[in-house]
Amino acid sequence: MALKRESKVYCAVCDLGQRCYEGDPDCRVSRRALREEVRERYAEPELKEMSRQAAFVEHYGYRIWDRAYETVAFAKRMGYEHLGLAFCVTVRDEAEMYHRYLEEQGFRVTSVMCKTGSIAKEELLGLADEDKVRPGGFEPMCNPVAQAKLFNEAEVDLAILMALCVGHDTVMIQHLEVPVTVLVAKDRAFDHKPIEAIRLRAAGSIPYEPPAQRTPEQVAAHVAERVGAGRDADSAGEAGAGPLGADAVDEETSE
Ligand code: SF4
Repeated sequence: MALKRESKVYCAVCDLGQRCYEGDPDCRVSRRALREEVRERYAEPELKEMSRQAAFVEHYGYRIWDRAYETVAFAKRMGYEHLGLAFCVTVRDEAEMYHRYLEEQGFRVTSVMCKTGSIAKEELLGLADEDKVRPGGFEPMCNPVAQAKLFNEAEVDLAILMALCVGHDTVMIQHLEVPVTVLVAKDRAFDHKPIEAIRLRAAGSIPYEPPAQRTPEQVAAHVAERVGAGRDADSAGEAGAGPLGADAVDEETSE
């Protein structure tokens, strides 16, 4: 497919050898006026400090620190004490692990799941039953506005986003009044590694466009997952296995 270069800024398809990386500031994109504008911005103390500490994290942990730890390192270097962890139900187990880890690292943690508020998708989004992931039952909408509001009210020092859906993350970022970083980018097909799909698609290993929608069989299979989870929950409850039962019930909303 031919590239469309209607944009004046196209670093990702640079035809100048990315010479800015070698110390050459002059090209069609990196104009001198812009350099002066950003110089002023980086002189602002808070922004300067954030940018400096990000560079130190890059320096000390280059190719050694994982992103989950880099987030901790950045927060500590910034002197942050109170962190917000906004997560999707899909990664609730990992969110619990990370919440505990952050506490062990000395932070106060406010964590909020995407389904907080438990509002049915039909109620505010105007979705029909067949538009749900698993038609035929209650399905709560993701609620990034509430997640952002809770973080704003709690005055967290840094909001950490963990596997929020595309678009829901947009809404949350739009409503946050605190600094934000993305820890995990959700990708349900590639174990939350969207870069894999980018590479595989460029290599022709996956379709340029995946199927437009799920097949009825796939929808039925997803509904069956919920039914199965409910049955597991019943039997776990009968056996008195509280925590197991709770997990099984949670599967109903797993997205
Ligand atoms: S700033 Fe200029 S040289 Fe650098 S990547 Fe963009 S187009 Fe290429």
